[in-house]
Amino acid sequence: MADCNHDCSSCGESCSSRDKKSLLKKPHEMSDIKKVIAVVSGKGGVGKSMTCALLASAAQNSGKVTAVMDADITGPSIPRMFGVTERAMGSDNGILPVVTEGGVQVMSMNVLLENEAEPVVWRGSLISGTVLQFWTDVIWTGVDIMFIDMPPGTGDVPLTVFQSIPIDGIVVVTTPQDLVGMIVQKAVNMAQMMNIPILGIVENMSYIECPDCGRKISIFGESNVDAIAMEYGIPNVAKLPIDRNLTQAADNGKIEQLENNYLTEFFNKIMKKINKK
Ligand code: ADP
Repeated sequence: MADCNHDCSSCGESCSSRDKKSLLKKPHEMSDIKKVIAVVSGKGGVGKSMTCALLASAAQNSGKVTAVMDADITGPSIPRMFGVTERAMGSDNGILPVVTEGGVQVMSMNVLLENEAEPVVWRGSLISGTVLQFWTDVIWTGVDIMFIDMPPGTGDVPLTVFQSIPIDGIVVVTTPQDLVGMIVQKAVNMAQMMNIPILGIVENMSYIECPDCGRKISIFGESNVDAIAMEYGIPNVAKLPIDRNLTQAADNGKIEQLENNYLTEFFNKIMKKINKK
């Protein structure tokens, strides 16, 4: 463009000189965040927040300083799952995340609202702006690994988050009823556009386990998630059962106290993949 001033932050043109990295926002100057993993899904209600909370608990239990950024602004469920009830505090320097009983740093719309039940009826740009402030204005201290609970889908907000925060890898959450192939294809396309690796797929509500004989029953039929993961070269697949203990732990704010996390092994595998980068 003839009148290009090389300031890509104020220009919407996708010209060849646009440096993707130039859209990245710097975290708060007092923050220290080593790795960032985004947890995504094609639609709501498939267990994205559950997966995010289980991965964060697995990380914290393995001794890593862990954080969760709840970017699902209109449907925030992370604080409830971790039993966080207090509000976030500000300091002269910035906003401080709340800390769970187990030590996970959390920032979410729900720890900022005076009344948790208040709906957030905002336009996309305001929502994206808030998520970015979770990155730029919150002081995250000594974080080894941050999980971002993304808003569902591939709309405006996830796109802005992907362009603005340096994400090291993506975990895709689906269920057997989902059109898994299409959702993975969309995630793969988005990841390729952003040049971010997909670390693994979690198939949630994959089966139930018979309490008497322990047999795994695929109530929605056998899924094709393994074949799809292979097709797209996605290295890790985890299958999460429908388990009442998970619902109860999430509803009672005891996700960190779960005896069976289910995703510990998956977490170790994705960490190996991310550390190879
Ligand atoms: P999303 O973030 O994709 O909208 P959530 O993680 O909030 O979905 O899950 C939706 C509901 O389903 C929550 O009440 C959660 O506790 C429950 N849930 C999710 N996964 C499971 C599971 N594997 N077993 C039992 N309940 C689950």
